Amino acid sequence: MSDFHEGSCLCGSVAYEVAGSFKAFYLCHCSRCQKDSGSAHAANLFAPGARLTWIKGAEGVTTYRHEGTLHTRSFCQSCGSAMPVEMSEINALVVPAGSLNTKVPIAATARIYMADAAHWVSAIQATPEFPALP
Ligand SMILES: [Zn+2]
Ligand SMILES: [Zn+2]
Repeated sequence: MSDFHEGSCLCGSVAYEVAGSFKAFYLCHCSRCQKDSGSAHAANLFAPGARLTWIKGAEGVTTYRHEGTLHTRSFCQSCGSAMPVEMSEINALVVPAGSLNTKVPIAATARIYMADAAHWVSAIQATPEFPALP
């Protein structure tokens, strides 16, 4: 069923299910998402009104809210993997795309906060590719 999704963290101690549809998929390049991810951008799916069910490890999930902003991130306390977070302010469940075990069902909607993007992002398309560690 397309409105049912599953995910888990890297160490496997946390797993979840989502019932609902992803309406948007944003790659956020803001400075907060760079710090948070340790990379160029966050990749979050937005599911208004979706239902999140923790299959296991809910007690091992911590949620960090950056003071004075809407920036919120849930993560596994053991491995640090980004996990879904329910954001009442926007009435949506926010799901990190990389945490899904089921296929990400929609294409990226937009790259946002490009004004804050890391300077090296624009050169990524021109870098050599390898199927695995060269
Ligand atoms: Zn974990
Ligand atoms: Zn961001």
